[in-house]
Amino acid sequence: MKLDSTLSSGLENFIDDNAIRTEMEKAENPDPQLVRDILAKGAERVGLTPFETAVLLKNTDKELDEAIFETAMSIKKGIYGNRLVLFAPLYISNECVNQCAYCGFKATNDDLERRTLTPEGIRDEVTVLENQGHKRLLLVYGEHPKYDAEWIAQTVRDVYAVTSEKSGEIRRVNINCAPLDVDGFKTLHDVGIGTYQCFQESYHLPTYEKFHLAGRKTDYLWRLHALHRAQEAGIDDVGMGALFGLYDTTYEVLGLLHHAQQLEKDCGVGPHTISFPRIEPALGSEMSFKPPYATSKHQFKKIVAALRIAVPYTGLILTTRETAEFRAELLQMGVSQISAGSRTYPGAYSDPEYDRPGVQQFCIGDSRSLDEVIQSIAGEHDYVPSWCTACYRLGRTGEHFMELAKKGFIQKFCLPNGLLTFKEYLEDYASEKTKQVGEELIAREVEEYVDLAQKKLLTERLVRIEAGERDLY
Ligand code: SAM
Ligand code: SF4
Repeated sequence: MKLDSTLSSGLENFIDDNAIRTEMEKAENPDPQLVRDILAKGAERVGLTPFETAVLLKNTDKELDEAIFETAMSIKKGIYGNRLVLFAPLYISNECVNQCAYCGFKATNDDLERRTLTPEGIRDEVTVLENQGHKRLLLVYGEHPKYDAEWIAQTVRDVYAVTSEKSGEIRRVNINCAPLDVDGFKTLHDVGIGTYQCFQESYHLPTYEKFHLAGRKTDYLWRLHALHRAQEAGIDDVGMGALFGLYDTTYEVLGLLHHAQQLEKDCGVGPHTISFPRIEPALGSEMSFKPPYATSKHQFKKIVAALRIAVPYTGLILTTRETAEFRAELLQMGVSQISAGSRTYPGAYSDPEYDRPGVQQFCIGDSRSLDEVIQSIAGEHDYVPSWCTACYRLGRTGEHFMELAKKGFIQKFCLPNGLLTFKEYLEDYASEKTKQVGEELIAREVEEYVDLAQKKLLTERLVRIEAGERDLY
């Protein structure tokens, strides 16, 4: 599909409000047998239609809700095993001309200290993150005419250029910035970004218009078509999301699924990842934004489980907006990527007086360090933290990656590659306690290998890493 690169007005709105409402109405008070049938289909890892997903979300029977969670857990285990991809957000600029009612960076927040990282500031931040052991970053930007695609591309080059002691290097830079035109996305593609993320916030048009009050972001369609434009520019891995709390939960999940289906139809591949942030209190003046559709923990768990069943091969991302305990529960349910040790303002990682409310985007729920998060997920929950970026660097992206994922590739290649990056982390950055629990976990994982040739290859590579080699995949 060829999309207009500058105007969204001529493009269709593929989010059909009537269709979503009909699906939601038909799914009300679902018959228990229908729920069971849908779960049986979901367990085959073939995905679900938006209507079927609505049925799961509308179910109120407690036992069946448990069955939904169990199905999601078994799909997660079957496809992703116990591997968990880790990343950190890096805020580059909080200058913004838009006015999103819920966000601390909105133009009218006069109490916010505006900051944009200089190349030196980027170097300082990335050095701190590399020294913690991070290899994957998500760069985050407000929207401002001063900072165009070329400027954003330069910040990406600046990040990739920072290398520090040990194996310190950023191997994959993902981007969360305002939508660009096709040429702008080409500029980002040319500097080697991984995933381009853009959250629609709300798929319900009147709600979208109500909470986006100024700037380019007022244009719903410009945002809705952003991922198509990114794909047209050659960015295969795109990430979508909705901000939960603005409108009805089921409506937003169906919006995400219709969006994903449209992308797959038009571009040959659906989203690489889906994010589902819940609104957190933003800090600063006039920030008493109360989410009109506050999402309960139970509803949130159901969102994650329903998405895991509906789009089994799409990465699900969970951020530090949620608390440590709740994150542990959601991991089992289907989350495949988490951020850790996050700080949400430009310059925060290298700020000696960290924790200034006046510059943050929103409050964080899980403020543990990367090492603490790893100690907990590896030691208490048996997850293998992974910084693997092999697919992206070998060109296995977009459609190609999805095809491989469907053939069981994640368990066969991603898990051993993940173990190798975990070993690097333990050698270079881990605290003593984390190293101990990590080594035990790696030993258990190697022991479980039934394929002897693979076990031998993995063991040899682990020894090579211990001897000082890095970046093996
Ligand atoms: N400015 C760009 C944009 O809006 O697309 C990208 C960066 S913006 C900081 C990234 C995301 O943060 C938004 O898409 C929104 O979903 C999320 N966000 C904003 N305010 C939030 C809040 N108070 N709580 C949780 N998430 C929030
Ligand atoms: Fe600006 Fe993005 Fe925050 Fe909206 S969500 S105010 S566009 S930074």
